[in-house]
Amino acid sequence: MPTIIDGNALAATIRGEVAEKVADLVATHGITPGLNLLLVGEDPASTVYVRNKGKDCENVGIRSTIVRLPATATEDEVIACVQAWNADDSVHGILVQLPLPKHIDEHRVLRTIDPEKDVDGFHPVNAGKLMIGLDGFIPCTPYGVLEMLTRYNIETSGKHVVVVGRSNIVGKPLAMLLAQKRSPGNATVTICHTGTPDIAEHTRRADIIVSAVGMHGLITADHIRDGAVVIDVGINRITLADGTTKLVGDVDYAAVAPKASAITPVPGGVGPMTRAMLLQNTLTAAIRKARQ
Ligand code: NAD
Repeated sequence: MPTIIDGNALAATIRGEVAEKVADLVATHGITPGLNLLLVGEDPASTVYVRNKGKDCENVGIRSTIVRLPATATEDEVIACVQAWNADDSVHGILVQLPLPKHIDEHRVLRTIDPEKDVDGFHPVNAGKLMIGLDGFIPCTPYGVLEMLTRYNIETSGKHVVVVGRSNIVGKPLAMLLAQKRSPGNATVTICHTGTPDIAEHTRRADIIVSAVGMHGLITADHIRDGAVVIDVGINRITLADGTTKLVGDVDYAAVAPKASAITPVPGGVGPMTRAMLLQNTLTAAIRKARQ
């Protein structure tokens, strides 16, 4: 049977480590890390995500402030909010919950965030730093995957990693990170996407497969070779025969797990790690500020 990579347990460990370091920062510098979250509109999923992120902060001693603007808020109002937080020294991290209403230019808003407070790692400065191997902020999901690989002692150096999905927040940054000459990393990385005619042709040669697509059942037993490591980033809600719904990943877990050497479940895999890494990034932002 494969090693089940337990994202819940790992995230709890990371939260414990962050809480200790937050207490240390308060004791030594009198600084309480602060994360400000902006929610525009009333999308139910976004509302839950933001509330959970706020609760996560409180649990580790990070101060969190949630500001809600109506769906009718203008782009300038959103930008003014971000600019005020940029100028506020008690705010170490800024998170604008995506997606924003359609009339607002998401890229313009993200570009307004001070890169030193960009704990989601979506600002072009942080994307650029990631690309050339400088310390910035790594987007939380790729960061969580790296932590999983590190803490489960999964070697990436010299391995062939296939990342399925090329989004700016998961697939692309993760592929870049794993290709870099450091640990974890130093892998030969293939990126598959909607333009790839035969994904299985690539994934079958992979030592490590990361699927970040959002399509349940995309990765089947036929897509992997014996002993591969399978990281499932996908989150999909499916309706069962009895009408109830269930969260599943991209991977056909029951069929793939027996062939894998290690695998992440959904839920309880990458999801909790993403949440934990936001706390780590906020702490990092506060520590960097304290050292200035
Ligand atoms: P996205 O829609 O921005 O990107 C999906 C990518 O998959 C695209 O690059 C696209 O080219 C590729 N793709 C789509 N269909 C494909 C196919 N049939 N074959 C190959 N490639 C295909 O999504 P995203 O934001 O990167 O998220 C991907 C998935 O991961 C979603 O299910 C999302 O809910 C989930 N997600 C999970 C976490 C987490 O914490 N676990 C975090 C972020 C996203």
